[in-house]
Amino acid sequence: MHTGVRRDAFAAQRRRMVERLAKAGIGVPRVWAALEAVPRHLLVPEALQVQAYSDSALPIGDGQTISAPGSVALMSSALALEGGERVLEIGTGSGYQAAVLSRLAGEVISVERLPGLAARARRALDTLGVANVVVYLGDGSLGRPADAPFDAILVTAGAPAIPRPLLEQLAAGGRLVAPIGAREEQRLVRVRRGGEGFTREDLGRCRFVDLVGANGWAA
Ligand code: SAH
Repeated sequence: MHTGVRRDAFAAQRRRMVERLAKAGIGVPRVWAALEAVPRHLLVPEALQVQAYSDSALPIGDGQTISAPGSVALMSSALALEGGERVLEIGTGSGYQAAVLSRLAGEVISVERLPGLAARARRALDTLGVANVVVYLGDGSLGRPADAPFDAILVTAGAPAIPRPLLEQLAAGGRLVAPIGAREEQRLVRVRRGGEGFTREDLGRCRFVDLVGANGWAA
């Protein structure tokens, strides 16, 4: 059938996308398997489905973008998830990163500030049968104190500095990954909460849309 053929075509494209990431050494095998399982073409606007498996960010409406697969591979891998963790994601957007995290952790709590995107992401995740992701509407730069602590926190929008509430909501041994820096360009930063405080690593250059909120940029 027509739809079956298309589904196979997307699966083949998705496999090649993962092979390219693996060849480039971006990410770890567990994350590549998750990327191979999540149909990214169902999380982008229909007109852009043909581009879904190129390694680029794509517009998803409301001036926002779905992160590039390479960024998702890198960030997801940097969280070093093993399976049972509780993860906080800031910036649900399309729901793609949340769907990937849902296959790597036990529970994903994702916060989005734009109601239209939050609603669309929820619907998309339901369509994909993703049951361990909760989407909240709100200012994620405040974290989710009611659900803390988190084993891992992923910020998918760029902030001038790491929002303090997120550090406070990180469990002992937990990892936070966030793009930090100027509006035009950031460094991807990983913070670990150890017994004696926080250690910070630089994972390289990146570019994300603004984190808008109390501990981000002004709207
Ligand atoms: N993880 C997303 C990428 C989305 S882009 C995906 O896989 O598609 C970043 C998202 O962060 C945008 O949807 C934007 O609206 C949202 N955002 C920006 N500031 C925010 C804030 N303070 N709280 C929650 N979401 C925020």
